[in-house]
Amino acid sequence: MTGESRTFGLSNVERQRLIERFRDSGKAQEPIGPTPNQDPFQDLEYWRQFEMIRMASESLGIANPFYRVHEGVGGAGIVRDGRRYLNFASYNYLGLNGHPRVSAAAKQAIDDHGTSASASRLLTGERSVHVALERSLAELHGTEDCISFVSGHATNVTVLGCLLGRPDLILYDALSHNSIQQGAQLSGARRLSFPHNDVAAAERLLAQHRGQCRQALIAIEGHYSMDGDVPDLPAFAEIARRHKAWLLVDEAHSVGVLGRHGRGIAEHFGVDGALVDFWMGTLSKALAGCGGYIACSRRGAEYLRYAAPGFVYSVGMPPPIAAACAASLDVLREEPERVARLNANAALFLARAKEAGLDTGLSQGFGIVPVIIGSSVAAARLSEILFARGINVKPILYPAVPEQGARLRFFLSSEHTAAEIGEAVTVLAEEVARMKSGNTGLPETLLR
Ligand code: PMP
Repeated sequence: MTGESRTFGLSNVERQRLIERFRDSGKAQEPIGPTPNQDPFQDLEYWRQFEMIRMASESLGIANPFYRVHEGVGGAGIVRDGRRYLNFASYNYLGLNGHPRVSAAAKQAIDDHGTSASASRLLTGERSVHVALERSLAELHGTEDCISFVSGHATNVTVLGCLLGRPDLILYDALSHNSIQQGAQLSGARRLSFPHNDVAAAERLLAQHRGQCRQALIAIEGHYSMDGDVPDLPAFAEIARRHKAWLLVDEAHSVGVLGRHGRGIAEHFGVDGALVDFWMGTLSKALAGCGGYIACSRRGAEYLRYAAPGFVYSVGMPPPIAAACAASLDVLREEPERVARLNANAALFLARAKEAGLDTGLSQGFGIVPVIIGSSVAAARLSEILFARGINVKPILYPAVPEQGARLRFFLSSEHTAAEIGEAVTVLAEEVARMKSGNTGLPETLLR
C-alpha cells in the first residue's frame, strides 16, 4: 500500500485516469451559461461522482450491489430468484414485519378505512388509527404528546426546518443522518457540527455561539446507524439544559433495540423522557411500518400540527401503516424478550467478529455491527462474494462514510439463530483473509 491519499479505494493516479476517461467523453465540462445540447445531469456534481464510481466498478468487474429486487418479507432471511439468503441488511430488528398480528391489524385497517387517508390530517385525513398510534408512541417515550409524519426522513427535514430560523443555532453530531443535516440546512439557522459523540466539543461551540443566537438546538442520534454506538445522553441533556438549548434525539435505530423493553436510549440510561425536548423516531425500523414522528410536549406537538409544512401540506399516513405500527408497539410491550434476543444476537456477532480479528469500529453490540474494510472497492467486492455464498449484507461506501471507513454493515434481528450468526462470521472472516492474501482478482493497490 502506498502512502498517497485515496478516494473510492483508488490511488490518485488511478482516479485521475478515470476522470480523464470521463472528461474525454466530452460530457464533464464546466457549465458556462445554458448548455441546451447537453444532458443537464452531466453538470451535476453528484452525477459526476456516481459516474466515476460506476466506471471504477465496471472496470474492476464488480456488479452494482444496489436496487436489487428481492422477494418476500425481509428479516433474518431474504429470497432472490427463488434462493434463500441469510439476511443482514434489513431493519426488521424484532421480526415484526410479517408478524401475523401486525399484518392482521393492517388488513383490518384497510377494511375500515381503505388504503389511503385521502387528505391531509388537518382537513379530512384524521383517522382513529393515527390518534391511537400517537398515544402509544407518547407513552413509549414518556411524553405528553406525539405527532406522526409520512416519512422518517421528511420528519427531520420539515421539523428542523420549521423549529429554527435565521437567528438560531443548530449543533449536530458529525455522523448525523442526512435528514438532520438537510433539515438544518433548510432552517437557515447557523449550522455547526461537532466531532462524533464529543460532548465537550459541543459545549465549547455552545459557549462560543449561544449568546448570539435566539434559539439553539442540539441534534444527536440515540444509536448511530453506521457505527452502532450510543452517545452519552445524560451529558448531552446536561449541556443542553445549562445553555438553554433544545435537545432532539433521533431514535430511528434505538426504539425496539435499546433498553430492556426497547423504549430506546432513555431506558438504556434509566433517565426520564422529559430530559429530551424532541424524541424523533421512525416507524420503518423495528416497528415494521413507514413514517416518522416527534414525541414531545403538548405545546410542541400542537405547534408542529399547524406549522410543519411536511405535516400540514402532506397526506396523513396510510391507515394500514398506522395500524400496523400500533400493533407492533403492542407486541413490543407484551414481548420484551424479542429485544433481549436481538441484543443477545448482536452481542454474539460482535464477540465472534472480534475473535476473528475483524475491525468492528465503534459498535457496542446493539443490533448494528459494522465491519470496517477500509476501501469502497474492497467492501463492494466482499459484499458480492458473500452474496454468492448465500449471505446478504450491504456495503457502505464513500461518500456515505469516509473512504477509509468503507464497510459492510450487519443489521441483526431477534430472528437470527446462533448457528446463522456463526456461519456468517466464519464465511466473512475467510473472505477477508483471502482478500488480504491478495487472492481476489482485484489489483493489490485497491485493497487496504
Ligand atoms: N434517521 C435515521 C438515523 C435513519 O437512519 C433514517 C433512515 N434509515 C432516517 C432518519 C429516515 O427514516 P426513514 O427511512 O424511515 O425515512
